[in-house]
Amino acid sequence: MIIILKPEITTESYEFEQLKGYLEQFKDVKLQIAEYQGMTRKVIEIHLIGDTQKIPLEVVQSLPGVEKAIRVSSKYRQIGRHGQLEPIGFDYNGLHFDQNSFHIFVGPCAVDTPEYVEAMFKAMKENNVRTARMGAYKPRTSPYDFQGHGKACLPWVFELAGKYDVAVIAMEVLAPQHIDEIFEALEKTGHPTGVMLQIGTRNAQNFELLKAVGSQQEFPILYKRGMGLTLEESLNACEYIASEGNHNIIFCLRGVRTHLGDPHRNLVDFGHVPVVKRLTKLPVCVDPSHPIGSRVQAPDGIKDIYHVAAQGVVAGANMVIVEFHPEPSKALCDGPQALFLEELPCFLEYLDTARSAYLEMRNIVARHTMHQMAPKP
Ligand code: PEP
Ligand code: MN
Repeated sequence: MIIILKPEITTESYEFEQLKGYLEQFKDVKLQIAEYQGMTRKVIEIHLIGDTQKIPLEVVQSLPGVEKAIRVSSKYRQIGRHGQLEPIGFDYNGLHFDQNSFHIFVGPCAVDTPEYVEAMFKAMKENNVRTARMGAYKPRTSPYDFQGHGKACLPWVFELAGKYDVAVIAMEVLAPQHIDEIFEALEKTGHPTGVMLQIGTRNAQNFELLKAVGSQQEFPILYKRGMGLTLEESLNACEYIASEGNHNIIFCLRGVRTHLGDPHRNLVDFGHVPVVKRLTKLPVCVDPSHPIGSRVQAPDGIKDIYHVAAQGVVAGANMVIVEFHPEPSKALCDGPQALFLEELPCFLEYLDTARSAYLEMRNIVARHTMHQMAPKP
């Protein structure tokens, strides 16, 4: 069961204490508080876990301070929608993320040289983009490949990000200590930017890491679907994160591994954008770089990465994360799929057009639905 509190009630309110007192008589039921902070309001929920059958819904519903009580049959009790209020999303470093917002994160696969990182941030600034991606810790298939510069590069990356007014960098973490290293480097440099902790596809079911990112409140999380996992397994992994207390999660589709995706690197799974939006409150991201894996282009002159990015956006994606590099042939990781810095304005305009098309398509459907529902003369 989930109890949603009225907007004016906090965990300090008298009504909250009364409600808690009432619920504590049910001995086999554990209480968990979940708080969601949106742009205009905060929602506090009490999640009841255990044998909740004997708790009378109508009684709970009528208690002071309760806006709504719902019995949840869904397994996604934290990230699920449960038909309650519209999902509110979250704010981070001046930006808002929810199922209606739209952001484009650009940057190299891995942090390499200060010159390349600065060139990337500079191009972003020139194109009014404040959301970046780049890994300091890289999970590589071979132990002999570049593993990322690790914590050593963090101070200069963050300082350069501050110089070019970058608000958020999506950065993969491979182990719980990387979260502390990122936090320490931000502290040391005076928080010139923000970080979204990325859980990569290879760690999609690393439960200790999921619990570690979930049990901190400093950073939001970008969770990338497991390349060999069902959607249900990946959503359950997000449930792990949220059940530790952090609900600021974005779910990223990045393709799944199967030879049926050949000649692409992975099979594009962006048809799941509306599915994730329907099943959960989470904003949904698409990563067109990793499913495609190269800069190949169609006879229409448009690269496959552009084509599938637009497919994700037209399906309603709230975020696109894509790899760019100032000199892809010299990139230490994923160079073949990095887009050229010079094409950043083109890519942004292309995606803005796809986003406008999506918004217009949504209006068309809403208008026709209203028309169909209007009483017939
Ligand atoms: C990445 O974003 O560079 C990355 C390694 O992604 P994924 O975990 O989806 O392969
Ligand atoms: Mn990569």
